[in-house]
Amino acid sequence: MKNIFFRNIFILSNLLLLSTCGNFGKNINLFTIEDDKTLGRQVAADIASKPEEFPILDRTKYAAAYDYLYGIRDKILNAGNVRFKNEFDWELFIIHNDSTLNAFCSPGGYIYFYTGILKFLDAEDQLAGVLGHEIAHADLRHSTRQITRMYGLQTLTRIVTSEESLPAQVLNGIIGLRFSRDHETEADGSSVHYLCPTNYDATGGAKFFEKIQALGGARMPEFLSTHPNPTNRIEHFHNQSTAHSCSGNNEYRERYQTFLKTLP
Ligand SMILES: [Zn+2]
Repeated sequence: MKNIFFRNIFILSNLLLLSTCGNFGKNINLFTIEDDKTLGRQVAADIASKPEEFPILDRTKYAAAYDYLYGIRDKILNAGNVRFKNEFDWELFIIHNDSTLNAFCSPGGYIYFYTGILKFLDAEDQLAGVLGHEIAHADLRHSTRQITRMYGLQTLTRIVTSEESLPAQVLNGIIGLRFSRDHETEADGSSVHYLCPTNYDATGGAKFFEKIQALGGARMPEFLSTHPNPTNRIEHFHNQSTAHSCSGNNEYRERYQTFLKTLP
């Protein structure tokens, strides 16, 4: 990744300038949009090379399931509030693992749903809410913002002196990345913002947390234990929906049940 290496020398000088100005804020991102896409593709290739850990449903065999997910994706993207709608790839994957209540996103818009979370949800607006949240992590470039903060100047100095390539070095970091509480809250708010112009209930994502709460603490997914309290998250979804005057109220429960029948 020579281009990234050389560009980082430029970035390094910019960063030195910024840090001497005392301006090294949390929103600084040393990566370009193209870097996000490159990193996302590398993560996707890495995941595809580990079918035992990530058994991804075949797109031909499960075409109906993928068509349904992509339909929801298009509805959100075409509603007008996703900033990098045309720049990012927005590819969706289903991982066959019924015991994992999770979804995750890589830079550049590579979004993975475990069958565990799909089967846990019971209406399309809930899935749209979770998808909106994952889209937001990519659209707000949380991974590369966080990597910028994590690695920062020290790593760039080392890269410049050792000629290591940044993507190879941070690849594992991205897969294991946990977003900060701020980024989770930001993604929840954006989920509402993205769904607001559609006819979905824009607080669909809150219903996931309501269902998690109903399970009781014992079955709380591990990834949520380090995240903002579900009660606060549910409130935030509703506050954002009120703030944006969102009026959609469709849940689409029946067709969600039809979708579930297309999964293994
Ligand atoms: Zn998240």
